[in-house]
Amino acid sequence: MIKSKSMSKNKNGEKILIIPKRIVTVDTANSIIKNHAVEIIDGKISSFVPIDEIQKENYDEVYDAKNLTLIPGFIQTHVHLSQTLFRGLAEDLPLLEWLRLKIFPFENAHNKESLRVTAQLSINELLMGGTTTFLDMGTLRNGDVVLDEMINSGIRGFSGKCLIDINDLYPEFKSSTKDEIKDITNLAESFHNSADGRVRYSFSPRFVLSCTEKLLKETKEIMKDFPGSIYHTHSSESLLEIDEVRKRFHKENIEYFNSIGVLDDHTVLAHCVHTSDNERKMLKDRNTRIAHCPSANMKLGSGIAPIPQYLKEGISVTLGADGAPCNNNLSIFNEMRLASLIQKPIHGTEVLDAQTIFRMATIEGAKALHIQNEVGSIEIGKKADLVLIDLDSCTNSYSDSDELIYSDIVFSSTTENVRSVMVDGRWLIKGRESLVYEQKEIISKGKEELQMLLKRI
Ligand SMILES: [Zn+2]
Repeated sequence: MIKSKSMSKNKNGEKILIIPKRIVTVDTANSIIKNHAVEIIDGKISSFVPIDEIQKENYDEVYDAKNLTLIPGFIQTHVHLSQTLFRGLAEDLPLLEWLRLKIFPFENAHNKESLRVTAQLSINELLMGGTTTFLDMGTLRNGDVVLDEMINSGIRGFSGKCLIDINDLYPEFKSSTKDEIKDITNLAESFHNSADGRVRYSFSPRFVLSCTEKLLKETKEIMKDFPGSIYHTHSSESLLEIDEVRKRFHKENIEYFNSIGVLDDHTVLAHCVHTSDNERKMLKDRNTRIAHCPSANMKLGSGIAPIPQYLKEGISVTLGADGAPCNNNLSIFNEMRLASLIQKPIHGTEVLDAQTIFRMATIEGAKALHIQNEVGSIEIGKKADLVLIDLDSCTNSYSDSDELIYSDIVFSSTTENVRSVMVDGRWLIKGRESLVYEQKEIISKGKEELQMLLKRI
């Protein structure tokens, strides 16, 4: 099911040259480079070669992409690979009911086979849409399956088992605090920084209502033994959830996290739709990162996060599609477009312009995950996580002016515009063909596994 070609590593010293129409670097000056090719040696960007100085015979591969624009791979800071199989099966419900009636029972029924195929379907969808790095929430059991699939597929990302040791919504779907702690230590030891650092561990307490204080705090302590790992949880998503948190702790959600010492610059909080002035001050003081998921916030009726305010206050905001059952797809293009548009009726047309949004989906995502020295922009010395996108389709702008490149990507493009995708200097998608998966096979396997999974509930 996984194509053997993708499993092989690039040969040592392999030299690839990509000749695009233009290069959107996302460097600090937002440079757009024309009439240059990008040279990649050993998976890293080694130079920009002027078109008239190219010596094709010096390369193992020359990719002529004169009609395509080269951009950095997209980075999504909040996704749920385990849920992709459940797309369309949890409609029109608010957060806590959505979890209680649908998502927790579904995730509880996963076995290794169903989890393997949902990971494959997710990685395939993310890659086909130009996402090269993600932060995954994982699921309660068999956390090794998703991490193993990430290693095999060639994609970059963070995942880890989802931590749940209290579950009033669906009591079957939890584990003991002791087992949770034992599992994360073993998984992080086995997987953190695997595949040459392409796959890293993220510690993932589900949300405040599903974890004991002991589990939340000890997880943060364990994380210190795994530098570069991420503490990834949900916070302040819906008003009903926040009411429950208040009843339990007599605090707002982020105030509670702050009081137990789990907020810092390696913590990513998904959502933060409803926050107080005091909580925003804590997020800023702790340099905690927010993963904004506009589609999910709209579909579950949670609300509209105050993103312009966060950015004004200097809080890190990046983007994620969340899970397929609350979206219902994993397209970064949908998130970019919505993230901008939903704010304009509230805050005015000038907020969240396309360039700001594009940076959120690339270099800011890398900064949020502390991998900005490796990926997130097209600069010499960085790893070659690259996307070739066709901006000459009939739905794109008819002007070739550099000024509207960002709006052409953010507002006019979809995953259909993505042509080829490279991670770590390896082509994973080429000419819209996956070099990783036999797509028909994983879709039919997904359908089979879903039928069997639904019978296990
Ligand atoms: Zn989520």
